[in-house]
Amino acid sequence: MEYITLNNGVQMPKVGFGVFQVDDLAACEKAVAEAIDVGYRHIDTAVSYRNEEAVGAAIAKSGVPRDELFVTTKAYIHQMGYEKTLAAFDESLEKLGLDYLDLYLVHMPFGDYYGAWRAMEELYCAGRVRAIGVSNFGADRIVDLARNFEVVPAVDQLELHPFYQREDEISVLSGLGVAPECWAPFAEGLNGMFDNPVLAAIASAHSVSVAQVVLRWNVQRGVPVIPKSVHRERMEQNLDVFGFELTADEMAAIAALDLGRPQMFDPRDPAEVARVYDYMENPVLTTLQ
Ligand code: NAP
Repeated sequence: MEYITLNNGVQMPKVGFGVFQVDDLAACEKAVAEAIDVGYRHIDTAVSYRNEEAVGAAIAKSGVPRDELFVTTKAYIHQMGYEKTLAAFDESLEKLGLDYLDLYLVHMPFGDYYGAWRAMEELYCAGRVRAIGVSNFGADRIVDLARNFEVVPAVDQLELHPFYQREDEISVLSGLGVAPECWAPFAEGLNGMFDNPVLAAIASAHSVSVAQVVLRWNVQRGVPVIPKSVHRERMEQNLDVFGFELTADEMAAIAALDLGRPQMFDPRDPAEVARVYDYMENPVLTTLQ
């Protein structure tokens, strides 16, 4: 495994395992157990995924020493605000069965995330979390946050894949010392990602899968990834991206696939913001990130 060094010196594995939409608890525990067995040491969950307890159960039963694992969870929008975020952190730790977190993220740039960030700074300074960061924050929001606080986010977890590459935003983040981290590296297969002819030709040239090309492309441009799969052979494949290198021409061919706009979730779209709040009010009838 290769690691990225965050702005406070903490090392984060460049490939992690995501558990969004694995909301059946038994299925989630099985998937995380299998992922750890396959070799993943970085797990990404969130309060809104409703599976922190399953992630915690798999970790507890794995027998892997705690300090070999990198565990991320996220505070959701109903948990924004100083007091609420402090309480949310304790709830997440309890569900995960852990006594510290590796990375705690503000999940969305909505609600009182300034109050939340004050709480997260406090948790960080108290040593209860090794790094703090945000998710779905455009570079503009990051610049603003960095101007108002002592602790600059270590990570901004963003939609980042060949169809939405965000090179300009990544360079702003990098200038501030914020590591971009990719969510939905395959855009969940939307827009025919797995059948794309450019990606398929590159995959064939390296005798790897399209999924591996997509992950390798992000990792090679310095962006860690957290693919999700409930299938063991795909988990293995997705972890195996350090044994080949894309050429400059291949990187350029992938750069040309950029559509320049979100394919899955746009936190700057009013309808999407409304959808996220609707989900909070009625999670049964709506879906979210
Ligand atoms: P994703 O990783 O882009 O795609 C997952 C889909 O790809 C699943 O349908 C999976 O199917 C399939 N897949 C995985 N590996 C494959 C392979 N090697 N070959 C073919 N198909 C493959 O989507 P995601 O789960 O939405 O994103 C990944 C993680 O990012 C999440 O789990 C979550 O931790 C995080 N995330 C964060 C946010 C945020 O707002 N911060 C939003 C979305 C996601 P199977 O499972 O059936 O194999």
